[in-house]
This record gives sequence, structure tokens and C-alpha cells, in this order.
Amino acid sequence: MKILQKTFSLTDHGARGMTIASIASFFVNIGYMACMILFFFFAQDILDDGMLSSLSNYLIAIVAAVAFTYLALDWEYRATYNSTYMEARDLRISIADTLKNLPLGYLAQHDLSDLAQTMMQDVLDLEHAFSHAIPQTFGAGAFLLLMIIGIFFQNAWVALAIFVPFALAVGVCLFSKSYQKYCAKRYFDARRKNIAILQEAIDMQQEIRSYNLVDSKRKQIHEAIDQAEKLQMKQELGQGVPVLSAQSIAKLSLALTVLATAWLLIQGEMNALFVIGYLIAVTRMLGALEGISMNIGELFHIDVRLDRIKELKATRIQEGEPTTFENYDIEVKNLSFAYGERPVLEDVDFCAQQGHVTALVGPSGSGKTTMIRLLSRLYDYDQGVITLGGHPLKAIAPACLYSQISMVFQEVTLFNGTVMENIRIGRQDATDEEVIQAARKAHCEEFILKLPEGYQTMIGENGSKLSGGERQRLSIARAFLKDAPILLLDEISASLDVENEMAIQKSLNELIKNKTVIIISHRMKSIEDVDQIVVFEEGRINGVGTHQQLMESSDLYRRLVEKSRLTESYVY
Ligand code: ATP
Repeated sequence: MKILQKTFSLTDHGARGMTIASIASFFVNIGYMACMILFFFFAQDILDDGMLSSLSNYLIAIVAAVAFTYLALDWEYRATYNSTYMEARDLRISIADTLKNLPLGYLAQHDLSDLAQTMMQDVLDLEHAFSHAIPQTFGAGAFLLLMIIGIFFQNAWVALAIFVPFALAVGVCLFSKSYQKYCAKRYFDARRKNIAILQEAIDMQQEIRSYNLVDSKRKQIHEAIDQAEKLQMKQELGQGVPVLSAQSIAKLSLALTVLATAWLLIQGEMNALFVIGYLIAVTRMLGALEGISMNIGELFHIDVRLDRIKELKATRIQEGEPTTFENYDIEVKNLSFAYGERPVLEDVDFCAQQGHVTALVGPSGSGKTTMIRLLSRLYDYDQGVITLGGHPLKAIAPACLYSQISMVFQEVTLFNGTVMENIRIGRQDATDEEVIQAARKAHCEEFILKLPEGYQTMIGENGSKLSGGERQRLSIARAFLKDAPILLLDEISASLDVENEMAIQKSLNELIKNKTVIIISHRMKSIEDVDQIVVFEEGRINGVGTHQQLMESSDLYRRLVEKSRLTESYVY
């Protein structure tokens, strides 16, 4: 059980189920063998003294052997499939639990189609291995061992004639393990890459067509598919050659048994019946070994899938405790953060008080969005600390933290559902009336009522049937509905026209009352009146203060204000 659990990352009850299934598989093999052994004794009795005297005994024994085999098969079936599907279910749930608690930054850095494949296809392959390869390999392995030991006590020569080719066959399979794994990994990686390329080609149709990239994209897809095809052939060969070689070598056991038994027959040390008996036994054992050699290939393959699942599960998840807050002041102390090896924020210090609006400004790439990502725990900071109401963010359970934060980003994500459902994401238990109120405050109602089915209109994948400004306003409506004590706004006016922005501004002023508000805006005019401005420069703080204070103390701030004025008066 321990070996199974460790090798195949099984849960406790999965390992127990797989062990029981392996034992059941062992008894199935014994059942098949029992029928053959009965036949052997039957033949011996006929030759020795005629069969009639013991016919009824044989009939009873045959019925018992068939019943035993049937019961063992039934047991194997139930033990295997019940434990397999439960294990696959638990594995999927545990992967989902891991994904649920991974920093969102992990998802941003990984290919999502790849993760989806790990959850669906990899687990499906494991399911097949759990239900076939593992129990059959262990069951047949134990059966072969028992048979060889049994035959050894009967006749050491015959045991040797069977054992040597079998050991060589298993050796060939094991020897080729690393090459089989290498080929399998290369092929799986290529297949995943293909899916990612195809998905990208579908997602980016607009860019592909408008920049006339159809031919080059098609070429890229063809090359990727050709490459995967070659790797698949190599993988088939990498598996087929050792498996077929192992099976051929194993068949030598039949020839060697014929030679050994024939020689013993000539020497008068064995009678003809035993020769036949051993040959029947070898034939049955060969069947079991062929099954093992094929299953071993599958076990090597699932190794590659298991490695991916282990890697995912080994990723550090976000932890923390449910927390109650006395206030919603956010304090950032000596904060540093890097994306991988690349430092982005260094020694950042500032405090955003509840009831105040704090604006983050700075040149492009200076780290403002990264700061917001850290504040919302989309990523976890490396050094220093961020506290909310005095509690370090890393000590707060992510779900508890998210329930206190409303985020409105420039990039809006909408679900393929109705308008009503999309706004209700802000607060699942909101009534229709509350959703409508939120939509009104975000100035959405005007365009919603023009949609074919109003609030019940399906808005397409990621709101593809809406304009940028409409999508943005829906996400603001969500924030109104959620009414969380912390509000993070990143360039929300970028997609809004002047009329809507001014209209929303009034509602926003209502929304932000008594909340901790942090905003990013490139339009310096819009943040002149906020309580506090934090100026970022290449990941460090250049200055903190009000507009007036910074106009006097920060060159960089003055330059940003000047540039923003110029941009506003820019004409094409
Ligand atoms: P902008 O005003 O243009 O939106 P910003 O001040 O918000 O810029 P950030 O988006 O925080 O800047 O980026 C800061 C730096 O971190 C940039 O140099 C950017 O290239 C880098 N960066 C941002 N996101 C990632 C990421 N996911 N992985 C690696 N580097 C990143």
C-alpha cells in the first residue's frame, strides 16, 4: 500500500482500494490457473486408471473452480472500478482545491489550456491506469512469483527455464524506462503546445486577419502538428520496440521449457503428462507476462502525467485565517517584490487610510498595477509587509480578503451569461431590484434597456456583444453591488466617454464614502483633489503627499502633471 501510495500519489483509501483490486486480480489469475490444473489432474487420472470412478468429484471441482473464478472476476471488477472512480474524483477535487488556493499570479503565468488538460485529460489517463494497469500488473506479478516458486519446488530446471527469460523480459522493460518516459514527455509537451497554438489562433482571429497573418499562422500550426506527429511515432517506437522485444524474449520460456521437459522425459525423470502440464502452465504465465509488459508501458506514461500533477500540487498555495477587521486602513512597509528574477518594487512604504482616497501615479512601468495586485493578494509579496486593519495580508484567508475588496480594472472580465447574472457576481444573494439599483448607479441602465432582452440578454463570451465602455460600466455596477469596504480602481476611465465618466463620477463619489480607496489614473487632473498621492518611480516611492505638496516637492510629479496637460490638449 505504501509503495502504491508513494509511486502513484494515491490517497489513503485510493491506495487501499488499489491494493484490494491487485489482490482480486491475483485471485483471478489463480482461478484461471486452477481450471488448468484441474484439467491436468483429470488427464492424469484418465491415463492412470480410467476416469469414471472420480467423474463426479471432477465435476464438483470444475464447478467450484469456475465459480471461484467468476467471484474473483466480480470482486476484481468492483474493487477496481469503485476505487478507481473514487480516486479519480478525489484527485480532480484535490487539483481543483489546489487551483482554488493558488495565487492568481500563478494562473497568469501558466497556460490555462495546459492547466485544463492536466485536470481533464491527465486525470482521465490516470483513471485508465488505475482501473487497468496498476491492479493487473501487481496482481499478475504476484501470481507469476507464486507460480515460479511453486514450480521451483516441483522441478528447479523447469523453474529456471521459465524464470530466466521472464526476468530478462522484465529487465528490458525496466531498462527502457527512462527512454520511454523521455519520448512520452516530448510527445505530450508537443501535444499541449499544439492545443495552445490552436487556441491562440482562435482567440486572436481579429489580429491574425487584420495583420494578414493567416498564412504564417497556418504554417506555424502545420509545423507544430508535423512535429507532434514525428514525436508520436518516436514515442510509439520507444514503447513498441522494448515491449515487443520483452514479449519475444519471454516466449523463449516456452522453448526452454520444451527443451528442459523433453530432456527430463528422455532421462526418465518426468512423465509425458507433466510435460503437457508444464507447457500449459507456461502458456498461461506468458499471457500474464504479456499483460504486464504492456501495462508497464502505460505506467511509465502516467509517470509523466503524475509528475505534472505533483508539480501543481507542490506549488505553494495561499493560506490564512478568517479575520474580522476593526478598520480598513492599509499599511505598506518596506515592501519588495519581483516577478521571478525581475525586481519590480523596492522598499515601498505608504499608508492608505479608511475614508481617504489614495492615488498611485508614476511613469509607465513604475509598478503601480503591481502594487494593486499585491494589495489584492493576486500575487504574494516577497519582503516587507502589507497590513489591513493591522493584520498582515498573508495571514488573512484569501476568500475573507476578497470579500472585503471590490476591484475595477481596465481589463474587464465578464462571463458568458445574462447582464443580470454578470452584475450579480458582485453579490450572489442580491435581489433583482438591488442589481437594477447598482446598474442605475453605474449608468448602465440606459444601454441595458436597449438590449433585445434587457437584463436577461446573453452578453457572449467575455461580453463580446458589448462595447468597451459598456463592459467597463457593468464591472463598476458589480462594485456598487458588492459595496466592499476597500475599493481598488485601475484606470477605470480609460474606456469611458466624457459624458459617462462625468455621470459615473457622481455615483462614484457616493460609493467611495468611508471606504479605503486606491486608484490609478494617468489623467492627473482627475486626482488633484484626492486626500493623498503616492508617486512611483522605477519601483520606488518618489514622494507622498497632496497635489499641492507634491507640486512643490517632487520634480517627477510636476513633470507628470505637465505631460498629462499636454496629452489632454493633443489633437490628431
Ligand atoms: P502602466 O502605467 O503602464 O500600466 P505600471 O506602473 O502599472 O505601468 P506595472 O504594470 O506594475 O507598471 O509593471 C511594472 C513592471 O513589471 C514593468 O516593467 C512590467 O514590464 C513588469 N511586469 C508587469 N507584469 C508582469 C508579469 N506578469 N510578469 C513579469 N513582469 C511583469
